[in-house]
Amino acid sequence: MAKTEKVERSPKLDYEAIVVGAGFSGMAMLRKLREMGLSVRVLEAANGVGGTWHWNRYPGARTDCESWYYCYSFSKELLDEWNWTERYPSQPEMNRYLNHVADRFDLRRDIQLETRVLSAVYDDKSNTWTLKTNTGETLVTRYFISAMGFISQPNIPNFKGRDSFKGETYFTGLWPHEGVDFKGKRVGVIGTGASAIQAIPFIAQDASHLTVFQRTPNYVMPARNHPLGEEQREYIKKNYDDVWKKVRQHSFGMPLEVQNRNTFDVSPEEQRAILEKGWQSGGFRYVFETFDDMMMDPKANEVASEFIREQIRQIVKDPATAEMLTPKGYPFGGKRPPAGHGYYETFNRDNVTLVDVQANPITEITPTGLKTTAAEYEFDILVLATGFDAVTGALANVDIRGRDGIALKDKWQDGAKTYLGLGSAGFPNLFIIIGPQSPFANMPPSIEHNVGFITNAIDHLRQNNIAAMEPSTAAEEDWTQHTIDVANMTVMPLGVNVNSWFMGSNIPGKAQIINVYFGGANNYYDRCDLVVKNGFEGYNFHHSPAA
Ligand code: NAP
Repeated sequence: MAKTEKVERSPKLDYEAIVVGAGFSGMAMLRKLREMGLSVRVLEAANGVGGTWHWNRYPGARTDCESWYYCYSFSKELLDEWNWTERYPSQPEMNRYLNHVADRFDLRRDIQLETRVLSAVYDDKSNTWTLKTNTGETLVTRYFISAMGFISQPNIPNFKGRDSFKGETYFTGLWPHEGVDFKGKRVGVIGTGASAIQAIPFIAQDASHLTVFQRTPNYVMPARNHPLGEEQREYIKKNYDDVWKKVRQHSFGMPLEVQNRNTFDVSPEEQRAILEKGWQSGGFRYVFETFDDMMMDPKANEVASEFIREQIRQIVKDPATAEMLTPKGYPFGGKRPPAGHGYYETFNRDNVTLVDVQANPITEITPTGLKTTAAEYEFDILVLATGFDAVTGALANVDIRGRDGIALKDKWQDGAKTYLGLGSAGFPNLFIIIGPQSPFANMPPSIEHNVGFITNAIDHLRQNNIAAMEPSTAAEEDWTQHTIDVANMTVMPLGVNVNSWFMGSNIPGKAQIINVYFGGANNYYDRCDLVVKNGFEGYNFHHSPAA
C-alpha cells in the first residue's frame, strides 16, 4: 500500500531525499530518514565516512570538547557499548567511532563514497532538486539536505609561487592517510589556528627544525588531556541522562556548571583564584566555569585575556618569543580560542623558531621554502594550517540554484541569510544541518537537534501532502538581524580585524558579518521547538502538485 502511494507521488525521483556529506550530520540524518521509510542516498566526496574526522588526520588532531558529550546521544546502546579512552579523543579514535556507527546502524549501504556534488538546481514546476556529481550522475530528489559541515571548505591562500615548492606540501585538512614522516626534516608551518596549535608540538618532536610562521597570535587554553579510567567511564555511562539534560540547557551545548557569577562580583584576588582554577581544569572550562560575563563585557574579558598573557610569559622562556606569542589588540574569544597540548612549551625547544609574518608578511613560496619581506627560509616540508572558508564555504562551493535560477552564493554575497540556519528563502526543500547562523556550540548536540527539526519538517510535508516549504523572507530577515544583534552583545565581533572565521574576515573578499549564532544553543533549540509546535511558523508552503 505504502509502496504504491510512493510511486504515485514521486514518479520522477531517484531518491526522495539526498543528503550531501557522511560525517556526524549526514549519518544522523540518514538514520532518521530511513526510519521514516524514505528512499535516501548520501553522497560523500571522501573515500570514507567521518567528515571532519576523516579528513583532518594531521598529527595531534583531536577534539576540543570532552569525549562523553562530543558524540551521538540517540542510542543508549551506543553510549553504553562505546568506551572512550581519553578526555579529548584523538582523530583516529573519532574516526573509529564514526565508522563503528556506520556499521552498527548498517548505514553504509545508502552511502555513496567518492562522489562530489557539483550542482543542485531546483525546478519550480516539479518541486524537485536535480543534483549533478563529479562521477557524471544526475540525480533527482525532493529533499536536498546539506550535511557538508561547519568547517570543511579548505582555505589555501593564493601565495605567489604557491605551487613552486619542490619539497612536500600538506594542508592540515587534507592530510594523507599514510601519514607524514617528519623525522630529521626541516619543516615550515604557516598558521597558528586550532589545527596548527595541535600539530606543532607533534611536528617539533620529530623535525630537525621547525619554523612556525605566525600572523596573529592566539589565546591558547591548556586542554589538559588525560586517559579515562574504567571507573570514570562507568560513572559517565550511569549518568548519561543527566549529561544530556545539562547539554540541552547549556548555551554552548556542554554539560558544564553555570557559575551565575560575574568578574567584578569578586575581589581581584578571588578573580585570579577562579581563573587559575579554570585554567587548571583545562579547555573550555576556562570560559564556562569561571565568569559568565567573560564573553560579554569587554572589561571582564580583558581580565581573562590578561591572565592568559601572563601564563604565556611564564611558560615561554625567551622573552622575545613570549612577546611575539602574546595576543594583543583583540579580546579572548574574538577568534575561536583553541585548546593546546603543550603548545606554548614547544617554543622552549631549541629546534623551534617563531617568525612574525604580521610584521614581515610572506611574499612568496619558493622552490626551497618561502620568502617574507625580511628574510628567506628553507625547508623540506611545508605544512599549510591556513584554515577554512568556514560555515558558508562548502555550500558556496556547490552551484546551488533555487527558484528562478537564483544562485545561493549570489544571494549570500553580502552575508548569509537564513532562517534558524536551517534554510534560506527562495530555496524550497533545501535543509541545512548546522548552517550559517546556527549556534556556535558543541556540534553533535546541535546536529542531532537540527536532524530532529528536519525530520519533523519532512514529516509535516508528507502528512499534509505539501510539495515544498521554504522560509519566508520576513522570518529570514528577522533571524539574520537577531544573529547580528546578539553577536553585538558579545566580544566576538571585535575579532573582525584579526581574521576571525566567526566574522568571515579570514577569507579575502568574503562579506564581514557574523556567521554564527551566539544567542545560546539552548535558546536556539527552544526557538526551533516552538517553530515546530506552531506548525512551522515562518515558513511558506507550496501546495502545487508533487512530481
Ligand atoms: P584558523 O583558525 O582559521 O587558522 C588559520 C591560520 O592560518 C591562522 O593562524 C591564520 O593567520 C593563518 N593564515 C591564513 N592565511 C595566511 C596567510 N596568507 N599568511 C599567513 N598566515 C595565514 O584555521 P584552523 O586552525 O584550521 O581552525 C579553524 C577552525 O576549525 C577552528 O577555529 C576550530 O573551530 C576548528 N578546529 C577545531 C579543532 C578541534 O576542535 N579539535 C581542531 C582544529 C580546527 P591569521 O590568524 O592572521 O589569519
